[in-house]
Amino acid sequence: MKILVTGGAGFIGSAVIRHIITNTQDSVINLDKLTYAGNLENLLAVGEDPRYAFEQVDICNRTELDRVFKQYQPDAIMHLAAESHVDRSIDGPAEFIQTNIVGTYTLLEAARTYWNALDVERKSAFRFHHISTDEVYGDLPHPSDQANATEHLFTETTAYQPSSPYSASKASSDHLVRAWLRTYGFPTLITNCSNNYGPYHFPEKLIPLVILNALEGKPLPIYGKGDQIRDWLYVEDHARALYLVATQGKVGETYNIGGHNEKQNLEVVQTICNILDKRVPTKTSYAEQITYVADRPGHDRRYAIDASKIEQELGWKPQETFESGLGKTVQWYLDNQQWCQRVQDGSYQRERLGVAY
Ligand code: NAD
Repeated sequence: MKILVTGGAGFIGSAVIRHIITNTQDSVINLDKLTYAGNLENLLAVGEDPRYAFEQVDICNRTELDRVFKQYQPDAIMHLAAESHVDRSIDGPAEFIQTNIVGTYTLLEAARTYWNALDVERKSAFRFHHISTDEVYGDLPHPSDQANATEHLFTETTAYQPSSPYSASKASSDHLVRAWLRTYGFPTLITNCSNNYGPYHFPEKLIPLVILNALEGKPLPIYGKGDQIRDWLYVEDHARALYLVATQGKVGETYNIGGHNEKQNLEVVQTICNILDKRVPTKTSYAEQITYVADRPGHDRRYAIDASKIEQELGWKPQETFESGLGKTVQWYLDNQQWCQRVQDGSYQRERLGVAY
């Protein structure tokens, strides 16, 4: 298969491409605008492979999308390109509306035009896999408010109730994808995944930010009380799940993907400090750098995924526990500090984002 991956220079997209090139016979066209979040360095391990090609293209640019489809004739699309950081969506929603909604619309139309012209066999085998987030579902009950809170999980039929400009823009794109299936018979699949962590995660997100701030002796910011719960999944487990859905999932279906790892943010930060205390000991524990800061506006309190559908129908299961995955992640950041320096590139110094009203 020839798979067009959008957003392949980002955190999850690059894990997907490394997985495909390393573990399958398929080829990949990486279509990425290279925003601040996209780095070709994430693909050095596979960049020279003849089955890999890169195109620097904005998904809002219809002319360029048409050219890429004509030139490469893909069999499937895995659509990951997006603005992805909630805090940035609070400070500047416009880019999120543009890329996540208008960009997904533009890609859908370019892909549908291309698909319409395929011969019968290739047309029926074609797949458009839209990669989305559990944040579209909004908030779940939190154990501090409700005794049976942990019985509530996001399923594929949970109603959408996004809270942030980011999640609202992703929800909009999910709706567009579903409408293109229903109206045009365009063969789409959607996945909604929980919080990912692992190597090559841009240092604006909680886990890499805490690792790097800890090592530099800077404050470790905890939003609000730090009791927000996320369901953490190691990025390579997500990449395997995505490839499985793209190649074996049923057209028209949605699959939720999660790690069965519900953790409070404060617990995540304390676990990172414990790992660093052992691997890079200093006179005091890194936990002493923990600092409580104003909460994120509209902050969802709890996310948790029921992943039983993908487990039962496609036989997927995460391979990493939170402990093993976090251990690997911390070690990766310890070993790759030059990558961290380079991707931050002077324009972002891990300052607080997302407090604007
Ligand atoms: P990321 O921010 O690390 O990467 C996004 C990539 O998209 C970058 O390479 C960027 O250059 C590219 N991009 C942005 N705008 C573009 C445009 N207009 N045209 C072409 N390329 C563009 O994001 P990520 O964390 O890898 O997330 C990838 C996808 O997975 C997103 O759709 C996100 O909503 C979804 N998702 C992320 C998580 C998570 O925990 N990170 C969880 C569930 C779902």
